[in-house]
Amino acid sequence: MSDQTFPFTGFGSAAVHGGHTKDPNYAHLVPIYASSTFIYDEAEQGMRRFSRQEEGYIYSRWGNPTFTEAENKIAALESFGLEKNGSPMKVKGILHASGMAAITTLMLSLLKAGDKILTHYSLYGGTEELITKVLPPLGISAIIADLRDLNKAEAAIKADPAIKLLYIETPANPTIQCVDIEGLKGLAEQYGLKTACDNTFATPYLQQPFRYDIDFIVHSTTKFLNGHGTSIGGILLGRDIEFMSTNVYTLAKTLGGNANPFDAFLLTNGIKTLELRMDRHCHNAMEVASFLERHPAVARVNYTGLPDHPDHYVAMKQMRHPGPMLSFELKAGLQGGIDFMNKLEMCVRTVSLGTCDTLLSHPASMTHYSVPKAEKEKYGITDGLVRMNVGIENVQDIIGDINQALK
Ligand code: PLP
Repeated sequence: MSDQTFPFTGFGSAAVHGGHTKDPNYAHLVPIYASSTFIYDEAEQGMRRFSRQEEGYIYSRWGNPTFTEAENKIAALESFGLEKNGSPMKVKGILHASGMAAITTLMLSLLKAGDKILTHYSLYGGTEELITKVLPPLGISAIIADLRDLNKAEAAIKADPAIKLLYIETPANPTIQCVDIEGLKGLAEQYGLKTACDNTFATPYLQQPFRYDIDFIVHSTTKFLNGHGTSIGGILLGRDIEFMSTNVYTLAKTLGGNANPFDAFLLTNGIKTLELRMDRHCHNAMEVASFLERHPAVARVNYTGLPDHPDHYVAMKQMRHPGPMLSFELKAGLQGGIDFMNKLEMCVRTVSLGTCDTLLSHPASMTHYSVPKAEKEKYGITDGLVRMNVGIENVQDIIGDINQALK
């Protein structure tokens, strides 16, 4: 556990200092512990460490001080300002090699053959592939329903007693659709289901699923938490410390999807500027959305910050701000999308998100190029759709580049 005890009143202070453990050699930043294994003063110490009578590192697949620093910082932010039974909420995080590794550990530690997951349309593609292709041969399957409607969610839960886990991703990748965390948690509680939320798009600065007593949170730390596009990573966090320290930890270390010290170091340092970055991302996204809304070449802007978006109310209810992600539909369709992407000068053509620079992708000519049209339309991916991670550059330059590319 971290040795940081100061009662931060601001999220930004917690992002800078939260979760810190003093380095035994007084290094200012917890260093990159590039060591696969850890040594013992004498054989008895090894016995105590292996039998968990003594805290300490053993082997880096099982834990490493550079991982601990990132785990404790993210746990401090996901529980920032939250209480449980009158005391500060306790949360344990386990760092993974990627968001997908963290989601895999989550699924396998909660579910066994015969169990089902209830989830919604439009999850991140990798997660969807995991639950529809990888888990079914193990006897674990998923029911995909419209969870934006609580009546439909309840009907789906009632119809199948094999459902054990309610899994949500809000806002979802790539459609930015949101589901009501509090409403769905209420239903899950009523029917005895475990709950998990992918909080990658929002980050704990914009949304804290633990506020609504969600049991587990996962992140692709690759995105806004790292914030600079310098590493792939993931984390699984839970409020049940005992379960996290036994079942989940044992599975995580056995599956071997552990982080590495260099990526963990980059992550810890990236998180320190989370509040500053997110404020700027969010401010810029709102300006860009209003600009696009008025542009004659744009048929539709999909941004939950705009009052006419179907998820505006739910996003505003559970998020500090609707966030940096938006998409828009060009009237000129497929060729219009290709021409627009080719004309960008400052903004970057790529598929990821969460970096300082503005990133744009055109799913019809990039990620979804070989997906059949009917399949694409099921997920709201049309020929002229462009997805945008609004960066932290000066907003007049982002709008200037988009404006010239739209001509
Ligand atoms: N969850 C969401 C919402 C994502 O967007 C992604 C990746 O884009 C993942 C999970 C998977 O994360 P990773 O690529 O770090 O495995």
